[in-house]
Amino acid sequence: MCGIVGVHGHADATHLAQLGLYALQHRGQESVGVVSIDDAGRARAVRSMGTLNDSFGQELAKVPGTSAVGHTRYSTAGSSTIENAQPVVARSRGGFITLAHNGNLVNAGELRMKLEEEGSIFASNADSEVVVHLLAKSSEQPPAQRLADALRQVEGAYSLIVAMGDTLLAARDPRGWRPLAMGQIGDAVVFASETCALDIIGATYIRDVAPGEIVSANGNGVTSMQAFPSTDLRRCVFEYVYFARPDSRVFGGSVDRARRALGRRLAQEFPAPTADLVFSVPDSSNSAALGFAEESNLPYELALIRNHYVGRTFIQPTQAGRDAKVKVKYNPVREVLDGKSVVMVDDSIVRGTTTRGLVALVRAAGAREVHLRVSSSPVTGPCYYGIDTPSREELIAATHTIPEIEAHLGVDSLGYLSLDGMLESVPSGPHGFCHACFSGDYPTAPPTDPEKLKFGCGC
Ligand code: SF4
Repeated sequence: MCGIVGVHGHADATHLAQLGLYALQHRGQESVGVVSIDDAGRARAVRSMGTLNDSFGQELAKVPGTSAVGHTRYSTAGSSTIENAQPVVARSRGGFITLAHNGNLVNAGELRMKLEEEGSIFASNADSEVVVHLLAKSSEQPPAQRLADALRQVEGAYSLIVAMGDTLLAARDPRGWRPLAMGQIGDAVVFASETCALDIIGATYIRDVAPGEIVSANGNGVTSMQAFPSTDLRRCVFEYVYFARPDSRVFGGSVDRARRALGRRLAQEFPAPTADLVFSVPDSSNSAALGFAEESNLPYELALIRNHYVGRTFIQPTQAGRDAKVKVKYNPVREVLDGKSVVMVDDSIVRGTTTRGLVALVRAAGAREVHLRVSSSPVTGPCYYGIDTPSREELIAATHTIPEIEAHLGVDSLGYLSLDGMLESVPSGPHGFCHACFSGDYPTAPPTDPEKLKFGCGC
């Protein structure tokens, strides 16, 4: 999962891109980057590991531009290096190419091998760089055609923002896996992964970039081409369940409304009639817990407090360290939980390690009964389309029955939302969504060599 933003035709484009990245920080905290492009088409990059900070902003102030491309990155294990930080910038015939990518290309390994055999030299091990090399090799013109020519060879998930010369391009793969919104501020055009990034800039949402579409903005205005037919729509349902911010609209629908509907449906499918109250695992489960509480006529309480200042770097290899991680990130409110039968709403369970730690915390704070309700279906398979999920063997729902999971987590009851319930609750559902990690219905052949995915940007 990554966040991308692009601004074209604004005197303060670099600063606007930086602002947009603040709103997309939840989509990636491994590295951050902004490339500003001046009127002469010169691209200058500021990239750094970690999140946006003061020194990043100071560096950025030195590279003003009228167009800018920004990226927040969430990488797969082993590839969290500054070389893989985006946007990617390269210099080729005809000038600079700048690219920011959200997604994962399932044939990146094969393409990279082929390109290397033909003499390409890669500066990173991110799959996104493959597209830059394909762009450099293409002689098609104008830039939108050149991008279409490059993308014709790739398979998988991509929402892209690309700058070439004075043109800023935005593209989505034909299955529409990852979101990409388009907005306007004055005469300037803005693209962003989620509409919360348009809000912070003060841009007005116009529409989504359509699956298979390439939108092109330059001095002549904005043009669009349907580069690829979109015949098999597979928007990632997990964007609604967990990834996107609740104040965003993605795929044309409100994330808050989607999560409340998921919570309401969950309460219908798995009521908890003996419970005194409902609380969420903050923050991504808040809206679903509200929906559950509304549907059940139960009070919604703030029983877990999340510390927002704990970074992803706080990772310990030992069990003691993992237990401490849960405690550092969450603290229960004893006054809410003591002696109560409670419903804990979480958006998903992956390995179960964090959930188990949370249940233990809630019990230690005096909860009499813990009924766990999950606002998505059991995650039973990995994602090959831009999300860093572990292998099947590590997914608790792939290897354990519901009674076994209940016992492992230490809960009195466990209810997962059904696949139909999940797909029918999200806006414009139930069709046109990817649910492969829940159902095993993968729209592409899984990569024959999963090691090749390590080339992935993991966003
Ligand atoms: S496999 Fe799961 S996480 Fe990955 S794109 Fe599909 S629904 Fe989203």
